[in-house]
Amino acid sequence: MPAGQPINTVDLTTPLTYVKGIGPARAAMLEAKGLTVVEDLLAYVPFRYEDRSNLKTVAQLAPGEMATVIAEVRSAKVAGFKRRALGLFEARFTDSSRAILTGKWFHGGYLANVLAEGMKVSLFGKVEFDSYTGEITMLHPEFEILSGDDDDGEAALHTGRVVPIYEAVSKITTRVLRSILHRILQSLDRLDDPLPPPIRQRLKMPDRWTAMRHTHFPPPEADLRLLNQFRSPDQFRLIFDEFFWLECGIALKRADAKTLPGIAFEINDRVREKVKAMLPFKPTEAQKRVIKEIAGDMQAPRPMNRLLQGDVGSGKTIVAAEAAVIAVENGFQVAVLAPTEILAAQHGFYFRQILGKLGYVVVLLTGSFTGREKGQLKKLVAEGLAPVVIGTHALLEKDVEFKKLGLAIIDEQHRFGVMQRLGLVQKGITPDVLVMTATPIPRTLAMTLFGDLDVSVIDELPPGRKPIITKHVPSERIEQVFSFVKKQIDEGRQAYVVYPVIEESETQAMKAAQQMFEHLSREVFPQIAVGLMHGRLGANEKEATMQRFKDGEIKILVSTTVIEVGVDVPNATVMVIEQAERFGLAQLHQLRGRVGRGAAQSYCVLVTEKMNDAARERLRTLVESNDGFHIAEMDLKLRGPGEFFGTKQAGLPSLRVANILRDPEILEIARREAVDFVARPLVPEDLERAVAYIRDHWQRRYGLVTVG
Ligand code: ADP
Ligand code: MG
Repeated sequence: MPAGQPINTVDLTTPLTYVKGIGPARAAMLEAKGLTVVEDLLAYVPFRYEDRSNLKTVAQLAPGEMATVIAEVRSAKVAGFKRRALGLFEARFTDSSRAILTGKWFHGGYLANVLAEGMKVSLFGKVEFDSYTGEITMLHPEFEILSGDDDDGEAALHTGRVVPIYEAVSKITTRVLRSILHRILQSLDRLDDPLPPPIRQRLKMPDRWTAMRHTHFPPPEADLRLLNQFRSPDQFRLIFDEFFWLECGIALKRADAKTLPGIAFEINDRVREKVKAMLPFKPTEAQKRVIKEIAGDMQAPRPMNRLLQGDVGSGKTIVAAEAAVIAVENGFQVAVLAPTEILAAQHGFYFRQILGKLGYVVVLLTGSFTGREKGQLKKLVAEGLAPVVIGTHALLEKDVEFKKLGLAIIDEQHRFGVMQRLGLVQKGITPDVLVMTATPIPRTLAMTLFGDLDVSVIDELPPGRKPIITKHVPSERIEQVFSFVKKQIDEGRQAYVVYPVIEESETQAMKAAQQMFEHLSREVFPQIAVGLMHGRLGANEKEATMQRFKDGEIKILVSTTVIEVGVDVPNATVMVIEQAERFGLAQLHQLRGRVGRGAAQSYCVLVTEKMNDAARERLRTLVESNDGFHIAEMDLKLRGPGEFFGTKQAGLPSLRVANILRDPEILEIARREAVDFVARPLVPEDLERAVAYIRDHWQRRYGLVTVG
């Protein structure tokens, strides 16, 4: 981005480098956070507010409360010779009440260059009483220096009012952000309000311009408590806006999709017979209901866009296979897409097994093939000789041509590649699309992420399942775990021992699994057949090992996460997961789903080495619950939406002011209004204006939405 002279008038599209107070260095820091133009920074709202207008004095502070005080630094130093290594930094503050407040910072050595005697500082933190020294203290208070460094006539901005506190952006402090935002709001022309007035009136919301200014700089009468709960009328309005335009975009896209020409598959007796011949068991009621919904979509002459939701083990794969049979029997090809190579291989295994009965050629196309092999496979696909093609997102590479793609089954497991979904559709055709997800997504999230999809839910497990008993065991007690495994094997059962290492380090996992395999087979279970499974084995070897495990020849399968999905051995009743602390909830839940598939009681043992609080929380969740829905919700809470959906995923709309977890009720309201507005605009021009507005202002952020 070119550095430029600061200019005095700005509009929403002004690059931040041109804003006074933001040079190239600051602009780069902001850009790293995705903030490039004025509009972006306006959406960077305070995460907290302090009332610095009528503050308590130090003498009035009460232990236990969260408080803000303004005081002067009396002394500041690294405390105590011996504690130097710890870098405990102590500063003493006082004010007109002459009482003393001590601030303490561990590893605070750097503060020696920040806090100096005589500085005026605003402090925010929990007030504590140190009974040892008799002092009033704050541990790691947030602070802001109010004097000393700059005197730009903006002092009134930082004290004597309700003050916005911003999350620092790299080295840009809350104070600097406050000044910059103040300046921007001063030099901006009044913002238009594109929200249809009846909606604003119905919900009694302030106009956008007022809401924007008041969210950054609340008026004197503002309610601090509401502000800190993100529920002031002004914050509500900004949160509502983000949800409303997102939901409008989704509703428009949905309406669009309904008008696209799709394939009307025919389902006659012949097709039904084929489906029946393929089914290895009687479907549950939930599966029957869901396949009926899917079949209905497939028969209709418009593209299916359906999400198939169901907990691990609920039997989604067979439903997908039924859909595949319908497509193939109508002379179309089916693409099955998995998020990783390993998962694709597993699907290859499963689909070959169940669709092989009908004589279908099932082709697995992943990155592990040589260029020449790939070329040959691609040719099969292009010539239509492979009715079922399974792969990773590599299938979306431009040079993979299908002769006649009719159905795309996208298994997203716990990842969400909404953009990839579009990529497939954009290959110049409109096949039916079925997205399977193993993680039941909380309702509000499903609405936002998959709002343009119809949803089918399998809410019933196949008959005869007993809840899995999950235990957490520190690795020092691994011997006990092994004797338990031994007992189960003596009773005729089988077990998995898994190293669920993240896919990127499959090599490392393989080594760990290899070592464990040798240890277990030679020392721990010399009399028992132990097998080894990992991603680097050739396809044949993998299949042979799996077969021997299925046949009960191998009793203990030591493995990496290759077995995460698709593996299905009902006689296996124990899942031992090593280093369980290193893995996410969704993945652990998936792994656990490999047992509990038969009539016998099953067990999952989570073995841990080093634990932190987050890991402890994850494991507790698993021990306490078998409910995928609950686990997904916890996962989301513990990791936040960003990580939950994976940082690389372009599918998650980047909400800035709004927060799906914090604001579900506003999302509901916004969705209702949006659906209503798109279906029944007062005048058609309203809708046209909305489309243009979304295109110009929101589309860049909402990758999901492509309208206009
Ligand atoms: P998901 O993909 O939803 O996690 P799967 O499709 O792998 O679950 O199915 C889990 C297991 O349940 C598999 O062993 C599958 O063969 C079996 N299964 C699925 N549906 C039924 C059913 N209706 N009756 C008996 N077993 C079933
Ligand atoms: Mg599955």
